[in-house]
Amino acid sequence: MSNKKRLAAQLMAASSAIFRCPVCSAAMELQHVKSLECINRHTFDLSKVGYVNLFTHSPKVKYEKQMFEARHLLCQAGLFAPMNQVISDYMIHELVDTDQVIKLLDAGCGEGSHLFHLKKYVERKTASRLLGVGIDLAKEGVYIAAREYPNLIWCVADIANCPFRDRQFHFIMNILSPANYAEFQRVLMNGGTMIKVVPGKQHLQEIREYFYGQTARKAYTNDRTIQRFQDDFRITAIERVTYKAAIAQEWMAAVIQMTPLSWGIAAEKQQQALRMEVNEITMDLTILFGKK
Ligand SMILES: [Zn+2]
Repeated sequence: MSNKKRLAAQLMAASSAIFRCPVCSAAMELQHVKSLECINRHTFDLSKVGYVNLFTHSPKVKYEKQMFEARHLLCQAGLFAPMNQVISDYMIHELVDTDQVIKLLDAGCGEGSHLFHLKKYVERKTASRLLGVGIDLAKEGVYIAAREYPNLIWCVADIANCPFRDRQFHFIMNILSPANYAEFQRVLMNGGTMIKVVPGKQHLQEIREYFYGQTARKAYTNDRTIQRFQDDFRITAIERVTYKAAIAQEWMAAVIQMTPLSWGIAAEKQQQALRMEVNEITMDLTILFGKK
């Protein structure tokens, strides 16, 4: 058994109480240091690198592993560092005088860098220990997360059917990724905090101008997303984070893949954009914090 798998098994065994079976909703336990199993014998094995696949259907979309590797390099280079700083500062502010284990779910974790960095920042600045759990439907992303960041729990899972019992998490974050607020409400503790990141008006504007031009720029607003968030959570803070980031040509594919789906840019046009010459891009992110 690989070291990573053994580490992941230890972590999951210690935290198995948070899980519920994605098939029958029964409680789960780690069995034989290698699989999560419910009392009705629905069994989910840990992979070699230590993630567990709790998705019960075959995936509809096949994601490109290469794209997640490129995204991983971008994250490692600090593309999201200012965003992670703001989120961790808010969490630390909420965690004053807490010495219990804080449970944080990243719903739509991708290749896992945000969760890793948040855990690091928070644990460095507080007495809190943080149990980080990342889920994503893209196995290709979760694979990288487990390979790179073994001290967190990683699952391939559907956010529309979160494999967790009710009211398990102090914090849930959902970064530039689709939400399922009914499920987030269910697995968030009473008084817990929901953190959602949405693109702002100027986000990746260099790419948008390439597609739509300066004048014929497609109107873009996140008002509806914010309204939708407010239907489920009482907003306690909204932070806007704007900065420029240097971008190497070979990272363009990963950047373009991050463009919001709502821009409606066709795949062939996205391919063209790989050749555009850009040295830096604008990051404009709106972070919503809300209480259950
Ligand atoms: Zn079951």
